[in-house]
Amino acid sequence: MTTDEDRVAAGWDRLNSLLVHIGRPDPRDERFRSIGTQVNTPVTRGSTILFPNLDTMRKVGTERYGHTAIYGAMGTPVQHDLERLTAAIEKGRDTQIVSSGLAACTTALLTWTKAGDHCLIPDSCYGPTRRFADSMLRRFNVETTYYDPLIRETDLRALMRSNTQVIFAESPGSHTFEIQDIPMLARVAHANGARLLLDNTWGFGIFAPFDHGVDVSIQALTKYPGGHSDTVLGAITVASESEWHHLRDAAIQLGQLAGPDDCWLALRGLRTMGVRLARQARTALKIAKWLTSRPEVARVLHPALPDDPGHTLWKRDFSGAGPLFSVVLQPSCTRKAMETMIDSLTRFGIGASWGGFESLVLPTTGGIVRSLPGGLSESPAFRLSIGLDDPADLIADLEHGLSRL
Ligand SMILES: *Cc1c(COP(=O)(O)O)cnc(C)c1O
Repeated sequence: MTTDEDRVAAGWDRLNSLLVHIGRPDPRDERFRSIGTQVNTPVTRGSTILFPNLDTMRKVGTERYGHTAIYGAMGTPVQHDLERLTAAIEKGRDTQIVSSGLAACTTALLTWTKAGDHCLIPDSCYGPTRRFADSMLRRFNVETTYYDPLIRETDLRALMRSNTQVIFAESPGSHTFEIQDIPMLARVAHANGARLLLDNTWGFGIFAPFDHGVDVSIQALTKYPGGHSDTVLGAITVASESEWHHLRDAAIQLGQLAGPDDCWLALRGLRTMGVRLARQARTALKIAKWLTSRPEVARVLHPALPDDPGHTLWKRDFSGAGPLFSVVLQPSCTRKAMETMIDSLTRFGIGASWGGFESLVLPTTGGIVRSLPGGLSESPAFRLSIGLDDPADLIADLEHGLSRL
């Protein structure tokens, strides 16, 4: 019998063979035939690449522009192997690694907008993406309209203008976990000649963006691939050759890349991402279910819960779930009481980010910005990132904390 826990872990389990094999040296490769190779791509640090003569330098520069090239700022072998594995996970044509998840969001927006354009961004987007749209994009005369992440098709069509070049999506939404109807967004975007950009950080490996009509998929590799809260990295992946040329050209112009040591950490983290996340997803659902039974809790925002508003779309489009969800407390709970409860937890670290091996808690109350009514900004709420801990220990810690309310 398939349990709910099996369902949230299934997509992670299916990813494992790919995670083991892609993006590392092949001993049958010409270069290694006579000398063998290490299992993992070595870290090579360098700005300058030396050539035996000018002719070879010119040849490498023209033939291989787009991948390894004549200078360190175009990336190193370990970055390109991370790009190969990321593209394989997303089922895309190719990936550009950038310095952070936020840089992935901003580089993608800069690549696919120009002065005079209009772009639609969900009200539930990652906060720094909103800040970039409201300040830098606006400064470059790109106008943003924030839309309800659960908008209906007819209402979305009504928001489209002749200059709408980008629909941005993030599913589930930051802190509030709305699951967006991505195929519908793609339909509306493409009918208007616009592109659909998706921040797919929560869905990495369990939501196939290009099978659902996305044009550009954005990743904070800081989260699941890093997995150990010790590196910051981002990725942009595209499905088509022509989009790849746009992206690669923009990344070179903007000087976007990442250091070889960070790429190496992410590549190492990816080998175990499937087993870590299957386990973390199971524990997260178990805790989410337990929380729904608590009298102090008003709602648990986790799309794998059957009565979650996003459950039907999650079941249709995702092959698993992430370890991150939110908890809304009863309105009678004051912000002060919630903060005292959070301070009392001993198994959850208080800190930003998520997806690492360790569990984290972060209050959402007062910290999230929304333009439209109906967000969570005033309810007493917090977000949990579930790590590899024993579920019983996490539940005992939460039980102790909630009983203090
Ligand atoms: C964390 C996060 C980012 C930014 O990633 P960094 O690597 O921390 O810059 C972007 N989008 C989402 C949805 C995130 O959770």
